[in-house]
Amino acid sequence: MSKKDENEAFKNCAACKKVLLRKKRHYRNNAYYCNNNCFQKKLKADAEKVTAEVAA
Ligand SMILES: [Zn+2]
Repeated sequence: MSKKDENEAFKNCAACKKVLLRKKRHYRNNAYYCNNNCFQKKLKADAEKVTAEVAA
């Protein structure tokens, strides 16, 4: 654990933007999520974006 990590103890969920407490955050794919459900939601949103770009 570095000092920088301590300073970034509070993160926002990449899906719902809720402030995350250090003990409760979930780290997935270079981003923090409040729970696995938000991670799945973000994955789905990204997948739909790619699908839309391919279809266009
Ligand atoms: Zn969330």
